Amino acid sequence: MAFTHSINSDGYLNSYTLIVPMRVGLFGGTFDPPHLGHLVTAVNVRNVLKLDIVILMVANDPWQKHATREVASAVDRLAMVRAAIKDVDGLVAGDDEITRGGPSFTADTLTALSVRYPGAELFTIVGDDAAAKFGTWQRSNEIAKLSTLVVVDRPGSPLMPPSEFTWNRVEVPRLEVSSSDLRARFVDGRPLEYLISDEVMQVISARGLYGSKK
Ligand code: ATP
Repeated sequence: MAFTHSINSDGYLNSYTLIVPMRVGLFGGTFDPPHLGHLVTAVNVRNVLKLDIVILMVANDPWQKHATREVASAVDRLAMVRAAIKDVDGLVAGDDEITRGGPSFTADTLTALSVRYPGAELFTIVGDDAAAKFGTWQRSNEIAKLSTLVVVDRPGSPLMPPSEFTWNRVEVPRLEVSSSDLRARFVDGRPLEYLISDEVMQVISARGLYGSKK
């Protein structure tokens, strides 16, 4: 927190302005597709930590996932995230990693955000499955220096984030929803209603994603 002030020629205080740093949450992901679990997490963490915004940052090249399966294009995933957050107060779709190109590294994204939002307090938000692998992330020490680490539990047995870092645990409704289950539902025809918003479903149909007909 900082103050600016102006003093008149007699030495009296004219006015002062309290400058409260912006609080910005970074919630990165593949979002292939974005679902109810992502949105419920983002709005609840924003509320608990009093964040001004939470950016759902779409990974350009999720290098840890590309190795194991085909991922929808970055442009399609961004379109789905834009549709998902449309009209949701305080949620923002982030395209920085797509604009930057190449593999997506959170440390680079945080550096870019600290330039875009000078003086902001940054928070890196992850589910416990992602937090458990945090040691394998590129430049994890830098991420921990640039931001406060926030972990939310997903359903199932709790996964422990590496203890050499300080973690802030935030309780959010635990929803057993994952993008992999949703992709499987597209294949086997199980219902998708409520798990994916109507706005996202429209993008999926319009772009013929996950085997849906255009
Ligand atoms: P996939 O099933 O393809 O691995 P995912 O559902 O885990 O995908 P991602 O886009 O990989 O979705 O996740 C982005 C971030 O959102 C990660 O930090 C992940 O832990 C978190 N996340 C995903 N689903 C949930 C959920 N249901 N509740 C809380 N956090 C979630």
